[in-house]
This record gives sequence, C-alpha cells and structure tokens, in this order.
Amino acid sequence: MNQGSPANHSGSSLACTMRAVVLHEFSKPFVIEQVDRPETEPDEVLIETRTCGICCTDIHMQDGVAYVPELPYIPGHEPAGVVVEVGGDVNDVFVGDRVVPYLFITDGDELHKDPRHAPSATVKHIIGTSIPGGFAEYFKAPARNLLKLPPNIPFESGGLVSCAIITAVHALHRSRAAAGETAIVIGIGGIGIVEIQILAAKGCRVIAIGRTPEDLDLARHAGADLAVTAEQSAKIMSFTGGNGADLAFDLVGIASTMKTCVDLLRVRGRLIIIGEEDECPPINTIQIAQRELEILGSRNGGIDDAREAIELMTRGVVTPRIDRVMPLEQFNEAMDYMRSGKARGRVVIRVKDD
Ligand SMILES: [Zn+2]
Repeated sequence: MNQGSPANHSGSSLACTMRAVVLHEFSKPFVIEQVDRPETEPDEVLIETRTCGICCTDIHMQDGVAYVPELPYIPGHEPAGVVVEVGGDVNDVFVGDRVVPYLFITDGDELHKDPRHAPSATVKHIIGTSIPGGFAEYFKAPARNLLKLPPNIPFESGGLVSCAIITAVHALHRSRAAAGETAIVIGIGGIGIVEIQILAAKGCRVIAIGRTPEDLDLARHAGADLAVTAEQSAKIMSFTGGNGADLAFDLVGIASTMKTCVDLLRVRGRLIIIGEEDECPPINTIQIAQRELEILGSRNGGIDDAREAIELMTRGVVTPRIDRVMPLEQFNEAMDYMRSGKARGRVVIRVKDD
C-alpha cells in the first residue's frame, strides 16, 4: 500500500477476479461466483468492500420491478470500504482512505450544481443499480463521488449513508420541518428509525406508526414521543389536540399507508412520500383540495445531504439500527430474511473483515 500517493496503481498485485453476488435471472436466487474485477478509468477509484447494506430496492430489483438492470448484474448500493487503487487523474482520494460512495454518477461536477437533490436529467449511472455495486469484493466509483468516512464510524453503519441515511436527511429538507411541529413517521424500518432520530433532534414532536410491539419499542427508543399502530389513530388525533399532524413521512408507500397519512394530517399539512411501490392510492381529492394538503415526493438526496448524513452520524445524532450482519456467502438467506419483514432495522452483508 502506498498511503498518501495519488499515483496510478493499475496493474498492481490485486487479483484479476473477485467473489461477487450475481443475478442471472429475475425472481431467482443470486449466485455467488468469481467474476472479473472492475477496471478503473483515470478519474476512478477501486474500493475493497468491507460491508454493504441490503435495501428494499434490492428486493424489487431481484423481482425485476424497479430499475430493471441488464442481466447479469451485481447489486449493492450501501457499500463502504477501503481505497486500494486510484486512477491517474485522481489527486484527492488516496490508497487506504475509508470511503462511502455517493451513488449518482454524472459527467464532471454536475452533481455539485444542485447539491441538495439527486441529479435526474444529468445522471448517467447509479452505483448498484445500473452499474455493478457493493455485494462483491471490489467496486469502483469516480473519485468525485466518494466521501471519506471518519474513523469513529464503523463500516457497517457508514455504508448506510448512501441510501438509508441520505434519504432520511433529504426527506427532512423536503418537508421543511421546523421545531415544534408534529410529525408522523409511518414504517419503522432502516430509514424510518433514522427519520425519527433526525426529527427528534430538530425539535419536532414525533409520532411513529408501526405494526408490532417490537417496532413501537424501537421507535420510542429512537426518540418518538408517541408510538402506535395504524388502528390506534384516535390516540394520534388526541395527541395533536384534534387537529392532526403538521407532517407525515410515508416510508412504506402503499395505498393504505398513504391514506392513513392523509387522514391524520391537519389543514395545510405536508405528506412526504419516500417508500416506493407500484400502487395507485385511492385518496379522496376533496381531502387534498379542501384541506390544502401538500404531497411531496422525496428520493435519495444530493451530495450535500450525504455530507450532512456523515456529520450527523459523527455527532451521534443518527445511530442507524442494524438488525444483523451476515457474510457474503449467506446473501440469499439475508434477502429471504429481509423479505420476511422480520428485520428490525437494516441487514448488512460483511464482505471482508476490517
Ligand atoms: Zn436503497
């Protein structure tokens, strides 16, 4: 290792192949096999993966219902690792750096032009969806997409910056949440727990809606002032003085959760849709128009949201909940566990020990 050197290390002693999780056919198990190691371009960096979190989007991609990648493909969009090789044009990322990627790849510095939103028109690729991701021994990224991970943040938490935590941070900004406002968070999973932590730190009164007693305990532990099931909506109306909540964050994104949120918002309340499902909610438009509701979509985030996510973790404001860490060899078992709905927080794959 040549710590501190920006020199091109292509052609180094690294093996030409690597172990990776590969999807060959939609709705079938992944195959763990040897594939070619990524080759870096002059502006790119090769990262040796330590961990990578599993997101619901990975399930949708396996089923062929979201992003629909070209097969075969290597998933993984919450990776963290250590830089092992840098391209010849890279002068601010070094071998040995602990890093997480910002997922959206654009030409040049396009991603810095609107640093609070994920690029759309200018996005060329998304790591782990349209190009190979982090469920492999190595992945590559442009140097400009990398963020350094402070030493006090472990890889398994740090990798969650790329999706779970950046998404919660961006949704907070989209919502225009202010101290003293009342905010509902529905869906107590990997993102929902972080959203509760951030809203509580902002000074909001947080109401969590979950399915099980375990969910509700987690929500209270994360800072929720009230934690109830969707059937206990009368408690929410009572908690808000009969007016309804100022904000509702829907982390599930199905018809029933969206309807629950709309029913529990006050006049001119804001609903932030984060969960993504292929559903058309039957919402009464009289409710939206006569109560002047705002419905806002929120997707991942901009590179400044990622920087803020790391800062919030460094300060201890955000502590993502990790249900379990499993080895790469048990990837399919880990996916099955995510599908079961039993995970309390994120399931993280350890690709290599620290
Ligand atoms: Zn994700």
